[in-house]
Amino acid sequence: MKTKAACIAFLTMVLVLFGVYAFDRVERQHQKEKFRAEVRSQLSTIEAKLEAGLNSRLFLEKGLIAFILTHLAIDTQHQITQQDVDRFAKEFMPELFGIRNITLIQNDIITSVYPLSGNEKAIGIDLSRVPAQQAEVQKVKETRKSLLSGPVDLVQGGVGIINRTPIYWNPQGGKETIYWGQSSLVIMQENLFQEAGLYDQSGLRLAIRSRNGLDSSEVFWGDEKIFQSDPVVVDVKIPSGYWQLAAVPLEGWDLNGPLFCWIWIVGGFISFSSGALVWFFIYSREIGKEIAKQKIDSLNQKFVRVFNASPTLMAIYREKDFMYVAVNDAWLTALGYERDEILGHSEEEVNTLALEEKQKSMSELVLGNTKEFQVRTKQGETRDWLMSKAQIQIDGDGCILLASVDITMSNHLEKEIARLDRLNLVGEMAASIGHEIRNPLTTVRGFLQFFRSKNQYIQDQENIDLMIKELDRANSIIKEFLSLSKNRSINLETCNPNKIIKELYPLMYATSVAEGIEIFLELDSVPDVLVDENEIRQLILNLTQNAREAILESGKIIISTSAFNDDVVLAVKDTGKGIPLEIYEKLGTPFVTTKDQGTGLGLAVCYRIADRHNARIEIDTSPAGTTFLIRFNAIRPA
Ligand code: ADP
Ligand code: MG
Repeated sequence: MKTKAACIAFLTMVLVLFGVYAFDRVERQHQKEKFRAEVRSQLSTIEAKLEAGLNSRLFLEKGLIAFILTHLAIDTQHQITQQDVDRFAKEFMPELFGIRNITLIQNDIITSVYPLSGNEKAIGIDLSRVPAQQAEVQKVKETRKSLLSGPVDLVQGGVGIINRTPIYWNPQGGKETIYWGQSSLVIMQENLFQEAGLYDQSGLRLAIRSRNGLDSSEVFWGDEKIFQSDPVVVDVKIPSGYWQLAAVPLEGWDLNGPLFCWIWIVGGFISFSSGALVWFFIYSREIGKEIAKQKIDSLNQKFVRVFNASPTLMAIYREKDFMYVAVNDAWLTALGYERDEILGHSEEEVNTLALEEKQKSMSELVLGNTKEFQVRTKQGETRDWLMSKAQIQIDGDGCILLASVDITMSNHLEKEIARLDRLNLVGEMAASIGHEIRNPLTTVRGFLQFFRSKNQYIQDQENIDLMIKELDRANSIIKEFLSLSKNRSINLETCNPNKIIKELYPLMYATSVAEGIEIFLELDSVPDVLVDENEIRQLILNLTQNAREAILESGKIIISTSAFNDDVVLAVKDTGKGIPLEIYEKLGTPFVTTKDQGTGLGLAVCYRIADRHNARIEIDTSPAGTTFLIRFNAIRPA
């Protein structure tokens, strides 16, 4: 995280520095152009002065030629003499500074020079024979144009620039012109340049080269390297071509003023501070994120702890595919699954909600309401859950949070209580009216037996026997009914259920075999229980009788005992036709029977006995047979 912030900050600095560099370049270019414009204007002044200086001297030469031509016009035979030239020159030349001499050449031969002194030897020289000058003289004659040449080192010392001008004239006034000769003016370069101010440019380096002259493109003044150093160049017009005047600053064009120093100081500061700002911004944001993440993590951890520790059965599944994304410990314990077996699996795979159309049933469970569902544990046991649901979002997925309470037990208790209520009512009735009916019946039976022994009723003996039998039956029903009485005292003793069963076996065997039914015992060694032996005997007999009656032709009955945790379980299993659904819920209510000769008291008595022994009755029935389980509490050795 730190390195990321540092990298971005460094990049920012580099970027800003690059910007400063670009600004510096633009500013330098701008300054350079400004500087060049200044130099150019300086050069233009020099150029103007140079041209003026040159022209003012050339005008003099033109004046001399005009002077000659005037003489020739007046007198075609006129010979221009040294005196003529002197006269003319004395009139104009003294004012002129910087002309070495002016020479008249008539048909290639020097005829006069001003000033003469020091140049006497030149008079009479035939220039067509002087190799150094022959070519130029010839060119001027042929082209009929002035030619500025040089500079040349002069014999008399110094450097001169020579201008030659052809002189043609028209003797008859006709079209044809005749070559008279030419003039040659030697200008002192130093004077000319000084006048133009070429020596006063302290901050500049200057150079001049001539174009189109004889010494074409040759730098004749100044350092020729200047032309290669990106100079400012101006053209100076001269007869027969032009010169190029070039200038570069002494220090070159690169500028390094305080401005650029400041650009870099301020730019460097901005670069550094923006880098620091970026670093600070990113770093503090990342720190903020980290803190927020830690907060969320700790919140999540707290939520997971609360979720898992809650006694409420909770599960979260994804709405679109019914896939479990979270289940809490209570949910897992209740269903007997491991977390791995549920998470990441869909309800279709695990099938814990014993529903036909799960999606539909779930959608019937309205948000904020509760609904009862049957769920199936891993062991296959069905349990009743009261569920509520809430919609939540997890990672952008729409999810459903199911919160449930297991109400199997309370449902069961509710039914038990209803059953007991009914039983109690009958029990109270039994206690109050049972004896009132039994006593008169005993009296009637006694009289009947008395009459039977009398001779006068000998022919009614058969009917009297039937009456006694029916009375006995009524009596036994009442007796049974009386046993439902709530307040009947019982005599609890420690005894082993296996013992009771073994004692009863011969009787049960005899009755069963007669009806073609096999009866088996599967007795585990079980701890003793605290019971009233007679009542348990009654319970077993009632259950086996029902079992026998449920078996239509042949079948078998298994009486078993087993120990289960703190319970001793007594089971009577038959292969009979099963309990009809319509009376299943009402089992144990007195007088509920499906049999013609039935009393509907057998099971009611069983429930009453179980009640008095704090035992529970569970029934498992199907068309293949029925099992009655009675769970007693075992007596643990102290
Ligand atoms: P009764 O036997 O006189 O009918 P009970 O209270 O003993 O009265 O039984 C009530 C009813 O419960 C019976 O009529 C019968 O329909 C049903 N029942 C009881 N035990 C069984 C069993 N083992 N198999 C099938 N049905 C049974
Ligand atoms: Mg019965």
